[in-house]
Amino acid sequence: MGKPTGFKEFDRETEPYRNAMERLVDYKEIYTGHHDEHLATQGARCMDCGVPFCQSGEGCPVYNLIPEWNDLVYNNRWKEALDRLHKTNNFPEFTGRVCPAPCEGACVLGIHEPPVTIKNIECAIADRGFEEGWVVPNPPSVRSDKNVAVIGSGPAGLAAAAQLNHAGHTVTVYERDDRIGGLLMYGIPNMKLEKDVVDRRVNLLREEGIEFVANADVGGSGDNAVSMDQLLADNHAVLLATGATTPRDLKIDHREGKGVHFAMEFLLQNTKSLLDSELEDGNYISAKDKHVIVIGGGDTGTDCIGTSLRHGCKSLVNFEIMPRPPVDRSDNNPWPTWPLIFRVDYGHEEAAAKFGNDPRVYSISGKEFVRDEDGNLLGINTVEVDKNFEEIPGTTQFWEADLILLSMGFVGPEHYVSEGLGLELDQRSNYKAEYEEFQTSHPKVFAAGDCRRGQSLVVRAIDEGRKVAEKIDAFLG
Ligand SMILES: Cc1cc2nc3c(=O)[nH]c(=O)nc-3n(C[C@H](O)[C@H](O)[C@H](O)COP(=O)(O)OP(=O)(O)OC[C@H]3O[C@@H](n4cnc5c(N)ncnc54)[C@H](O)[C@@H]3O)c2cc1C
Ligand code: SF4
Repeated sequence: MGKPTGFKEFDRETEPYRNAMERLVDYKEIYTGHHDEHLATQGARCMDCGVPFCQSGEGCPVYNLIPEWNDLVYNNRWKEALDRLHKTNNFPEFTGRVCPAPCEGACVLGIHEPPVTIKNIECAIADRGFEEGWVVPNPPSVRSDKNVAVIGSGPAGLAAAAQLNHAGHTVTVYERDDRIGGLLMYGIPNMKLEKDVVDRRVNLLREEGIEFVANADVGGSGDNAVSMDQLLADNHAVLLATGATTPRDLKIDHREGKGVHFAMEFLLQNTKSLLDSELEDGNYISAKDKHVIVIGGGDTGTDCIGTSLRHGCKSLVNFEIMPRPPVDRSDNNPWPTWPLIFRVDYGHEEAAAKFGNDPRVYSISGKEFVRDEDGNLLGINTVEVDKNFEEIPGTTQFWEADLILLSMGFVGPEHYVSEGLGLELDQRSNYKAEYEEFQTSHPKVFAAGDCRRGQSLVVRAIDEGRKVAEKIDAFLG
């Protein structure tokens, strides 16, 4: 423990975000820089408690050695902190930026006091490692004669590829998009994760010997199709890390037509246009001067809010079918479980700064989209619902909108890959493969990440990628 009395002396202070109005005019990351003294003080708040729940199942999914690096940061031993961090997490520069930090919800200090700022410290260690030139390619010294194909380049595919490559196997990652990174590249927007941070890590993996093939739609039928049969013939094992990319739809009247889009259409096109041309090519759905309604919350909803505001939308409302969460944990949500409490994420803060109020409306459900006789979107009729999602009579309301973004989660992976392979699915239509085993009903094919467990978190995808690599390594003998 860095300082035994640290948790009594110092208050929790997270690194602030940039001013909301200032950051709205660009797509740069919302974070301010790291300051060693501040982080040492925050690291000193760690009690090094006997049972660090932060690094257990309820806490950090990759079991990061949190108390150890808190102590090392307090003692200014950053290089050792980085080595400890890389033991359990291949990509701390991603999780340090985007992880919702279940570790902090499970921090023992958090029972009585605000928890340690674990995520900030993780990000600072990772960023320091790159600044100092400590993060360098580390290719394996010996190669096996085994080839592995990884389908999908999100955090699960990248983590598995990194681990299998370190074990000496020859790994090729196939990605149907034009850029590598999965949702790190084309889901989470630049404001939370700038894309040179993703490219920097992918380049390191490339230098370590992993081959990346973009524009390669495995099992698809278009111009970019790559034959799954060929991959099975050429490789000793195949890993599916294709994500949970089928969005949940809102099947109410007048759904079809202009103005209603899935969140991922909006976010993907925006990031691609931003990276290709700084939005000059116009190949994106613009929210400029529009009344925007985002249906659904979570990270995806927040990212739609942040992006719409940067386009210059005229107004913004965010519908949530759930009731407003409590400010503090409720009795059935005790420590160390993830606190289901009211939070203000970056997009909500920005909407409040721009329009004067939080954009969220709770306990509300869409009844029908409203269009004029030419099919143009005019808005949506809604109804209020109780906690059992039953409609409350007499609460119908019309909301004006030119653009409605559907951000209601994802129902599972697309199925053309699994159909081609004849794979079994689980009850939720994910590829069926037990956690910790990861083998599908095809003996040579493994599955990990969101395509196996459903849409989740970057850190859980990294965890699955690391664990499936162990299983594939054992399978390869
Ligand atoms: C908008 C948005 C914001 C999010 N924000 C956060 C956040 O802030 N923090 C957080 O922890 N989590 C966040 N998440 C969740 C997180 O991004 C995912 O849980 C994580 O990326 C899943 O990783 P994965 O590797 O399993 O799949 P993905 O990242 O989805 O990657 C799968 C890849 O497989 C590719 N693919 C699919 N089929 C094929 C095929 N046939 N051939 C070749 N390639 C194929 C896809 O193109 C994709 O690139 C967010 C999700 C979304 C949608
Ligand atoms: S990866 Fe997430 S849960 Fe794990 S230590 Fe970092 S912020 Fe916490």
